[in-house]
Amino acid sequence: HNFEEFDLNEGVKNTLTVARNEVKYVAEVQENLNEVPAVRAVGGQINQVLLNLIMNAAHAIKAKGIDGLGLITVSTYTDGQFVYCSIADTGTGIAEEIKQDVFNPFFTTKPVGQGTGLGLSISYDIIVNKHQGDISFKSEAGIGTTFVIKLPLIRKTE
Ligand code: ADP
Ligand code: MG
Repeated sequence: HNFEEFDLNEGVKNTLTVARNEVKYVAEVQENLNEVPAVRAVGGQINQVLLNLIMNAAHAIKAKGIDGLGLITVSTYTDGQFVYCSIADTGTGIAEEIKQDVFNPFFTTKPVGQGTGLGLSISYDIIVNKHQGDISFKSEAGIGTTFVIKLPLIRKTE
């Protein structure tokens, strides 16, 4: 695959351009983008992960079914070793008893035909196996969920 110098903020902006139309009746999207160094990455794959996470956030807000708009906050930041992107939502949250399952291929809580259950397993493969990064989440049922991806600034192997 084609590793390139990839600007995570550009990836977020491009992804939100695509996602905003889908998301606008469900959530307000807040961008909190900080200056981050470029990483070596397959840009198209990282954008695919970002889109997965943003669409999951929108679905979780829609599934909560409260009136008005939910909120999705997309943030980027760095600690000098990694660059991070977090996607926080005010959706349903993830129940304690399924937290260990969400990265499994074909695991979905969506109605038949609405989710493949592949988004997070593909995202895990892209971030952890292909880019030597990490993907994790914190979630509280009824409150919301925050997914964080982290990508190393210096890759151990190419
Ligand atoms: P799909 O979106 O097709 O269901 P994913 O792999 O993207 O598959 O997600 C798997 C499951 O993880 C979802 O069905 C949902 O139960 C849970 N999930 C993922 N992201 C969120 C989120 N932001 N809020 C609540 N639940 C989530
Ligand atoms: Mg999904």
